[in-house]
Amino acid sequence: ENVYRVKRWGNGYFDIGDNGNLHVIPRYDQPNLKIDMLEVINEMQAEGIEFPAVIRFHDILRSQVELLNKTFRRIMEEADYEGRYFGVFPVKVNQMREVIEEIVDAGTRFNYGLEAGSKPELIAALAYNTNKDSLTVLNGYKDEEYLRLAMLGTQMNRKVVVVIEKFSELRKLIALTKVTGIMPMIGLRVKMMVKGRGKWESSSGERAKFGLSIAEILNAVELLERENMLEAAKLLHFHIGSQLTDIRAIKEAVQEASTIYTQLVKRGVPLQYVDVGGGLAIDYDGSQSTQDSSCNYNLDEYVSDIVYGFKQSCDLADVPHPHLVSESGRAMTAHHSCVVTKVIGEIQPNGIDFSTRKATGEHIIVSNMRTLETDLTELNLQEAFNDANQLKEQAIQAFKLGVLNIIEMGKVETIYWRLLKNINTALQGEEFIPEEMQEIPEMLSSQYLANFSVFQSAADSWAIDQVLPVVPISRLNEKPTKLCSLVDITCDSDGKIDKFIGEGEVATNLPMHELQPEQDYFIGLFLTGAYQDVMGDMHNLFGRLNEVHVFSYDDDPKDFYIEEVVKGSSIDHVLSTMQYNPAIMAQMIKKEIDQQIQRGSIKPRQGVQLVDFYEDCLGAYTYLKS
Ligand code: PLP
Repeated sequence: ENVYRVKRWGNGYFDIGDNGNLHVIPRYDQPNLKIDMLEVINEMQAEGIEFPAVIRFHDILRSQVELLNKTFRRIMEEADYEGRYFGVFPVKVNQMREVIEEIVDAGTRFNYGLEAGSKPELIAALAYNTNKDSLTVLNGYKDEEYLRLAMLGTQMNRKVVVVIEKFSELRKLIALTKVTGIMPMIGLRVKMMVKGRGKWESSSGERAKFGLSIAEILNAVELLERENMLEAAKLLHFHIGSQLTDIRAIKEAVQEASTIYTQLVKRGVPLQYVDVGGGLAIDYDGSQSTQDSSCNYNLDEYVSDIVYGFKQSCDLADVPHPHLVSESGRAMTAHHSCVVTKVIGEIQPNGIDFSTRKATGEHIIVSNMRTLETDLTELNLQEAFNDANQLKEQAIQAFKLGVLNIIEMGKVETIYWRLLKNINTALQGEEFIPEEMQEIPEMLSSQYLANFSVFQSAADSWAIDQVLPVVPISRLNEKPTKLCSLVDITCDSDGKIDKFIGEGEVATNLPMHELQPEQDYFIGLFLTGAYQDVMGDMHNLFGRLNEVHVFSYDDDPKDFYIEEVVKGSSIDHVLSTMQYNPAIMAQMIKKEIDQQIQRGSIKPRQGVQLVDFYEDCLGAYTYLKS
C-alpha cells in the first residue's frame, strides 16, 4: 500500500484485496460493492479482447456526479445559502458519447448540465443535454455560426448561456439578437487578477487568453444597457486554471469574484448566477500537497470555501446569494477509467550473460576490472565503485582507439555491471550510503516494456510531466523487488513513463515485481478518465485502444458485467485516416506476389497465404499481440 499509495489517490474507489489483487469500489456510498480487477481482465481475455485496453467503470462516473451535486446541496443547506447549485460538465474533458450520456443521465435529477467550448462540443451538448432545467454554458471563442447554434438552443427552450470571452463577441451577439428577436442568456467572463496555482496558472492574470478586464465588463454593461439588453446579463464567469493545487488560490478567487458580483448587482446588473469554472484538483500522487500532481484540499473544503465565501460577501453587501455553477471536469471523470496492459519484456543494463573468462594476453584494463570483482569486500565498496567507474571510462576510450577489442569490451561491460550488483547487495541495510553510491539502485534499474503508447494513453505524462499512478493489478501482497521505469512500444525514446509516485518528490523509478515465466504481469495506468482518454495522438499509428464498459450489480456486491465492448483502432482504419486506401494497398501487394509466382520464386499456394496474411493484418488491432 505504501509503495503505490492506492488508498491515497484512490479517493475511496480503489483498494488492495486480501488476495493481493487491485479492487475497485465503484460507488462512494456503497463500500460493500467490490470488483476484483483481475476478474475483469480474465473475463476480457475469455471474450478475446486484446490488450492494451481501456476499462471504464461507469458506476464511478455516476458516483462522482452524485457526490459533487450532493456535496454542494448539503453545504448550501448547512450554510442557509439562498441560491441553488447548477453544475455543468465540461465536454472537452472527456467527449466520449458514452461518458457524456452517463453523466447527463446521472445528473438529470440534480439539473446538472454541460459546458461546451467549441462548435462540435456545442452540437453534441444540444443533442444530449435535453433537460430544460439544466444549463448549457458556452465558453471558447465564437463566430456567428456558434452564436446561431446557441440561439437554436434557446429556441428549443434550453437554458443556454453564451459566455462572452472577448468584447467583439458581445457586438456580434447583440446584432444577432436584433435580427432574430431571440433574447439570449449572457455570461460575462472576468479576467481575474488572482493567480491560479499549478501548471495552468496562466489561465488568470492580465495576460490570460480569455475574459474581460474590469473596464471591459463595465463597458459591456453600458453597451447592453444602451441596447436595452441588460436583462440578458445573467451570469458572471471566471476560471483561474485547471488542477488548482493550493486551496488558497480558490479562496482568493472567491473573494475577488464575489466582490465583482456584488458591485455589479449594486450597479443594477441583473446577475443570477456565478460560474466558478473548473480547477477542482485530483491528488494524482496521493501526497495531499501543493505539488503539481496533487492538491492540499478535498471536495468538502472546496465547496465550503465557495459557498461560504459567496454567502459572506453577499450578506455583507446586502445582495442576494447567486445560484452557483461550477465546471469541474477532471474531478468528475479522472477516476472512472484506466488503461490496462501487459509487461511484455524487460530491458536491463546488466542482464547479459557473457563469458568473462580470462584469456591469455588480455588487456590490463580487463584484468584490473576482474581483480576489482574478486577482491570486493564490505570494507572497500566505495573504492571498488570509484575504480570500476574509472576503468569503464578508460575501456570506452581504449575501445574507440582500437586498443581494446570487441570481446574485451564485452567482458569489461559484463564485469562492471556484475560488480555494481554485488556492491548494491552489500549496501542493503547500511545506515549510511555515500551520496554517489545512492545512485546505484537507479543505475541498475530495469525498464519494463509495456504494450501501449504513452502518446495515445498518457499524453500529459509525456507533455507536462503529469504523474499518473501506475500499479500492478495483482501480487500486491508481495514485496516488489525490482526498481523499474516503463517504456512503451512506440519507436521514440520519449515513449516512456519515468515519473512515478515516490517518497516526497516525484520518483524516476517504481518498485515492481520480478517477471515470472509463463505468468502474465498486468499493470494499470490509473486516473486517465480526464483529458488523457481523449487527447492521445496517432504517433506510430497505434490509435485508440479496445475499451470495455464495466457495471456493478446492486444485488451482488462482488459481481460485475461488461456492458459494452468498443473495438480499438484497426490497422486499415488508422491508415485510412492518413489518406491511405487499404483496398488498393492489398491489391498492390497481390500484384507483386503474383509477379513473384510467375517468376517461380513463390509457389502459388504460398502466395495466396502471404496475401491473406497481409489482408488479415490490415484488419487487425494496431498494438502488439502479447
Ligand atoms: N472550464 C473552463 C473554462 C476550462 O478552461 C476548464 C479547463 O481548463 C474547465 C472548465 C475544466 O477544468 P477542470 O478539469 O480543472 O475541472
